[in-house]
Amino acid sequence: MKNSIGKRKGKRASSNDEFINGERQKARELRKTKWWRNKTSQGHCYYCNNPVPPRQLTMDHLIPLSKGGKSIRSNLVAACKECNNKKTHLLPFEWDDWVQ
Ligand SMILES: [Zn+2]
Repeated sequence: MKNSIGKRKGKRASSNDEFINGERQKARELRKTKWWRNKTSQGHCYYCNNPVPPRQLTMDHLIPLSKGGKSIRSNLVAACKECNNKKTHLLPFEWDDWVQ
């Protein structure tokens, strides 16, 4: 028997994109919050623990969005550009903000 109820097939590739876009948007919003300012004001990178000027810290997802990670506080850390850059699952939007 075919399962005719439920999701349609054909455009399912976009559902993940939608998820990622939504989470990216949330991350942008979180970056404007006091919580993020407090986090970056500590002035060091989550990964290498080197001192980094707050303005040079980037927002990084511990579990990448591409792996189903979410833009929630417990999944977000402040990382220096170098460490962020080393990560395989680089999130281009985080760099967009830097390349302004
Ligand atoms: Zn680092």
